Amino acid sequence: MNPGHIARPDVQDRSEGTADSGSIRLEKVFDLEEIQKIQDSFALSTGVASIIADVSGNPITRPSNFCQLCEQIRKTPKGLANCICSDAIIGRDHPEGPVMQRCLSGGLLEGGTSIRVGDRHIANWLIGQVRDESVDDETMMAYAGKIGADEEAYRVALQTVHRMPAVRFARICETLYLIGAQLSKLASHNLYQARLIAERKQAELEREHLVRELAGKNRDLENVIYAASHDLRSPLLNVQGFGRRLEQDCSQLAALLSEANLPEDIRQKTLPITQEQIPKALKFIRTGVEKMDTLIGGLLKISRLGQVKLKAEILNMDLLLRQALSAINYQVQEAGASVELGQLPSCAGDPMLISQVFSNLFDNALKYRDPSRPLRIRVTGRSEGDSSIYCIADTGKGIAKENHEKIWELFGRLDPTGPVSGEGLGLNLVKRIVERHGGWIWVESSPGTGSSFFVALPCRTVSPGKEAREA
Ligand code: ADP
Repeated sequence: MNPGHIARPDVQDRSEGTADSGSIRLEKVFDLEEIQKIQDSFALSTGVASIIADVSGNPITRPSNFCQLCEQIRKTPKGLANCICSDAIIGRDHPEGPVMQRCLSGGLLEGGTSIRVGDRHIANWLIGQVRDESVDDETMMAYAGKIGADEEAYRVALQTVHRMPAVRFARICETLYLIGAQLSKLASHNLYQARLIAERKQAELEREHLVRELAGKNRDLENVIYAASHDLRSPLLNVQGFGRRLEQDCSQLAALLSEANLPEDIRQKTLPITQEQIPKALKFIRTGVEKMDTLIGGLLKISRLGQVKLKAEILNMDLLLRQALSAINYQVQEAGASVELGQLPSCAGDPMLISQVFSNLFDNALKYRDPSRPLRIRVTGRSEGDSSIYCIADTGKGIAKENHEKIWELFGRLDPTGPVSGEGLGLNLVKRIVERHGGWIWVESSPGTGSSFFVALPCRTVSPGKEAREA
């Protein structure tokens, strides 16, 4: 066994499992220091020398228990050449069992076992440098003369070589084979685990990339919404202003015409125009403009949210929600609703924005109540891992399952022509606020029973570094 390099002359069979083995290395699937400990302990307890090498013969571990005699042999060119030849034979892939032989250089006992990953041969655990105790000194010494070694040094080194019966060495080789087989199984398992971890890391990187891309697209979209709604504002103000002027002018014109001394047939024709048709048309224009104004205002709010820097702090949610409820006390009374506030865990967030989330949900609970039964609003909360989860449950109209996604969309109103007014922007804004905080929101609801809106928010503030990366 050569501690430097175990050469592989043409005698070896490279056909099985070695083609791809270059990509899997023992050090990739095992902690080498742990393997070294096992190897050292094995060598010490059995009295054999030991080393693990890759399939090309390069040592992977440090030699354990190596003897002086082999050093004497390798000092001579002939000894070294024979040593390399012998190593090449035990260095082949031997999946079927351990290999054991008498060293072609010096005649010491040596053996080995393959370490494999599936059908790939990745390394060899080699043992040897043991004297068969049935072979006498003179037979062993004859080799010194053959290779031209220093006989005196050779004799001294020979005395230090560990001896044992060949049959005991064979048993050690069997044991080594069993350990090698277990290592092979473990190597496959470890490789599989390593691949899973690598795949997971890759998926995580891809996910982060997509999240960043999506955040960029969202920002672009918010900028477009901002620019469009901002630019629409001034022509709209013009329409609003001139519309008002037109209303005043028209009512003046109507007054003048009604006082004017007009022929009866002209009066009959102009009166319905100035007193009914024009005011009616102007009213439609005003309502349309007001609606557009509210929509543009809502869009501006949504686009501004992306520009706002979060001022997150730990929030006392009992206090925050009590304040939000007291602001709508009148509407609650009007609706004859009862509100129940449970014990709420704190969370991390921007007080203004989080308050906006809950105010919006309360408003909706009041707006979408079921007139056929009393409205009860119940707020509860719990801590779960790194999140605080709040639930706002109402006994309102409820939402059919097929609309559970639609309500979060921009302008996602379920009954746009119904009696309740709205723009369909509230829940979209709420969702954006919650997600900006690193949280999430979902609904559980069915018509006739009511709705439960769940809001999950982080319970700790984000480190300034992370905020900076996200911004
Ligand atoms: P808006 O209230 O202006 O219509 P939202 O975005 O706040 O807009 O809500 C979207 C839609 O979701 C509403 O139009 C309504 O149909 C439905 N919705 C929201 N909250 C509730 C609720 N608590 N109960 C029943 N339906 C609701």
